[in-house]
Amino acid sequence: MIHIRSNEEIELIRKSALMVTATLTEVANFLKPGIKTISIDNMAEAFIRDNGGIPSFKGYNGFKYSLCISVNEVVVHGFPSDYELKDGDIISVDCGVYMNGYHGDHAYTFAVGDVNPEVLKLMRVTKESLMRGIAQAHANNRVGDISYAVEQWTAKEHGYGVVRELVGHGVGKKLHEDPQVPNYGRRGDGKRLKEGIVLAIEPMINLGTREVYTLEDGWTVVTADGKPSVHYEHTTAVRKNSGEALSNFAPIEAAERANKELNTGHLEPVAATA
Ligand code: MG
Ligand code: MG
Repeated sequence: MIHIRSNEEIELIRKSALMVTATLTEVANFLKPGIKTISIDNMAEAFIRDNGGIPSFKGYNGFKYSLCISVNEVVVHGFPSDYELKDGDIISVDCGVYMNGYHGDHAYTFAVGDVNPEVLKLMRVTKESLMRGIAQAHANNRVGDISYAVEQWTAKEHGYGVVRELVGHGVGKKLHEDPQVPNYGRRGDGKRLKEGIVLAIEPMINLGTREVYTLEDGWTVVTADGKPSVHYEHTTAVRKNSGEALSNFAPIEAAERANKELNTGHLEPVAATA
């Protein structure tokens, strides 16, 4: 069953989604080569609880952590661990927060230090595909219009692999609700969108093959060819003329830029004097 949310409910979902934005902004401030991914999880859980939220993922189907942290060839559902981030890694951080009876669900892929330009391009194109998908999330469109927009920009225009085994979803009182939102599909297919539906739109895009498999731990999804994968996600309200992202990349991006300048010691050159 697909829920239609009132504006009051959407504002509560926005609060949860923006708490995830704040958490991912803390992650952006914290990231540098040498830190363990479990430290990021510990920091995020403390931040969420200090701000009155509950980490949605902790305990979900037995998942033990507050964040999914997926490094390089891990697509999604990676476990935080003692792995120390290295210069050139990418990490996809997926986070859910439950507050006031509603979930927000939101993910971002970060570059650690100097990342290969080919991978930076994959990140940029995947983020753009999310925005193109959100633009299609308006009343009287269908789920397939979102799916088509994401696939068109990533697979058709840029030759990337679109993961099919995992999909976006409705989000609200439960973390995962109807409908499913695949990142591939045909225009005009699927359920009709109505104002007030709230969706987690989340392209998972691979540099190489779209084929993935799950490790024996039952969670960690990796690319079949070992090449990197990228994941961006916004909690999105269906509106009259376009989708509206309820979560927000701008504070995360600003923290990313500030952190990069701090870690590279980049300063304006000073003119020499005689
Ligand atoms: Mg998520
Ligand atoms: Mg999700």
